[in-house]
Amino acid sequence: MKFADLHLHTNFSDGTFSPEELVALANKNGLACIALTDHDTVEGCTRAEEATAAVTMEFIPGTELTAEQGDVEVHILGYFLDTQNKKLLTEIAKFQAVRRQRIHEMVARINQLDVPLKVDDVFALANCRSPGRPHVARALVKAGLVANLDEAFERFLKKNRPAWVPKAKMSALEGIELIHQAGGLAVMAHPGLNRTDEIIPALVEARLDGIECFHTKHSTTMAERYLEFAEKYHLLVTGGSDCHGFSKNRPLIGTVKLPYDHVERMKAKVAERKLATTNVHQ
Ligand code: AMP
Ligand code: ZN
Ligand code: FE
Ligand code: FE
Repeated sequence: MKFADLHLHTNFSDGTFSPEELVALANKNGLACIALTDHDTVEGCTRAEEATAAVTMEFIPGTELTAEQGDVEVHILGYFLDTQNKKLLTEIAKFQAVRRQRIHEMVARINQLDVPLKVDDVFALANCRSPGRPHVARALVKAGLVANLDEAFERFLKKNRPAWVPKAKMSALEGIELIHQAGGLAVMAHPGLNRTDEIIPALVEARLDGIECFHTKHSTTMAERYLEFAEKYHLLVTGGSDCHGFSKNRPLIGTVKLPYDHVERMKAKVAERKLATTNVHQ
């Protein structure tokens, strides 16, 4: 049996592994195929692809966009993207700028609470164009201002805590269209995490291609529930570990193994869509 992990982060966003380290771990775990899905960026894809080629592993260029449907935050995974697509690169660059501005605001709010975190220390630690809350949390731990990452999120960074800054998001429809025009498939990430079932029909209406049924934080019951949604709405089934590096002393990569036939179905849909657009243009 061949397996894939289609939800992975590197240090091009809030993961801690380099693309090469991630691929080495994927190889160690016997994965036949991986997708890189860094937040609002595709920058790590070139290096990850080169590293997979060296170990004859299949690579899918991807991203994880933060979007919203109404006032519900939803993460949209993009797969088989053209990572040189101009519109995709222009749009995600805007959201990366928002992310950097948001780091300044979060640190200012933390400073107002007399916690002397330095914004330069956060950027030095993040060292990427698409920084996020985990970088602020890690900088707080590194400076000895909190005991651990959980404390950082609980005290400051979780939704509605004092340093939580909402970020400007694209609509789910815009996210799905952005992925489609870059040749990709749009998949709803970890639906079980934020109780977003009620928005699924609207996403389907917006031409969502798939749903992430298997995820580290999904119970078996949740996975079964989303497999039913997939069947009902004719959605592709995906899955991944959402590995961000070491979590409680071990990396999550390898804990979610998606049977490879789901990747075959994804590829068939990409090919079908390419054929349809070629026919239209003839
Ligand atoms: P951001 O995109 O900056 O809002 O950060 C979101 C990321 O923060 C997620 O992808 C998770 O990796 C991480 N995260 C969110 N909530 C928590 C939490 N309560 N504890 C630890 N990490 C979290
Ligand atoms: Zn993340
Ligand atoms: Fe996510
Ligand atoms: Fe993720």
